[in-house]
Amino acid sequence: MNIWPIVAGAAAVAGSAAWGAVAPSSQMYGPTVRHTDAAKKIALTFDDGPNPPVTPRLLELFDRYSVRATFFLIGKFVRECPSLVNEISIRGHLLGNHTDTHANLIFQSRAGLRDELERCQIAIAAATHADPPRWMRPPYGYRTPLLKTEVQRAGMQGVVMWSRIGWDWKPQPPERLIARLARAARPDRSHGDIVVLHDGDHRALGGDRHHVVTALEYWLPRWRDAGLEFVTIEPCAASDSPRAPRK
Ligand SMILES: [Zn+2]
Repeated sequence: MNIWPIVAGAAAVAGSAAWGAVAPSSQMYGPTVRHTDAAKKIALTFDDGPNPPVTPRLLELFDRYSVRATFFLIGKFVRECPSLVNEISIRGHLLGNHTDTHANLIFQSRAGLRDELERCQIAIAAATHADPPRWMRPPYGYRTPLLKTEVQRAGMQGVVMWSRIGWDWKPQPPERLIARLARAARPDRSHGDIVVLHDGDHRALGGDRHHVVTALEYWLPRWRDAGLEFVTIEPCAASDSPRAPRK
C-alpha cells in the first residue's frame, strides 16, 4: 500500500479533507480503532493477503511464539486460495475485510463501495464456513464520508487503522524493517500499538515479503521476552468511539 501518491494528489485538491481521510489518527470520517487498550498488548495486522508463498510462513512463526494476529484480506485473493484462508482462521487468527479488489475508495460510488465490502465478506465467509468479518481496513488507509455507514450496513463493527506502520510494501533488506519496528510497543505509554504490515501484494498473488518474515523472526522472541502480549483486534482493541468494542 503506497499511500503517498494518494496523499499528495488528494491534498492538492482537498486540503484538510484529505488529511482527514488518510491520517490514521483522524476521526473526521467516523471513529476508528488505532491502538490497543494496554501498553503491553501489541496487535500485529497484515494487509493484502492471503499470499501463498508468505502467509503460511507467518502462520508457522506465529504458532512457535503463540501469536494471535489479524489479517485484512482482499476478496479476489480469498477466492483464489480459500483453503489458506480457512487455515488462517483455524489457527486462531482474526480475519478482516480489505475490500474485494483493493479499490481506492475515493473513486467509489455508494453502490461500488457496498459491492467491494459485501463481495469480500461473502468470499471470506465461504472460505471459512463461518461468520463474515467484523472489522475492515480501507486500502491505502483512505476513508470517505460513506464508509462508516456502509461498514455498519455490511454488518461490521468498525474500521481499523494503525499506530505504527512498517513501510514494508516494497521488497527491501530486512534490516530496514527490523530497525523501524524497534519503536513498536514501547511500554512508556498508556496504549499499545496496532502495527500494519503486509503478507501480500495487492497487485498480484506471490509478492515478495520475505523481509516481513525475517523481521518478525527477529522481533517476536524479543517482544515475547519483553512481556508483550500478542492480541487480535477483537476483543482487545481500544477505540475513541463511544461504540467501543467489547473489552
Ligand atoms: Zn492494502
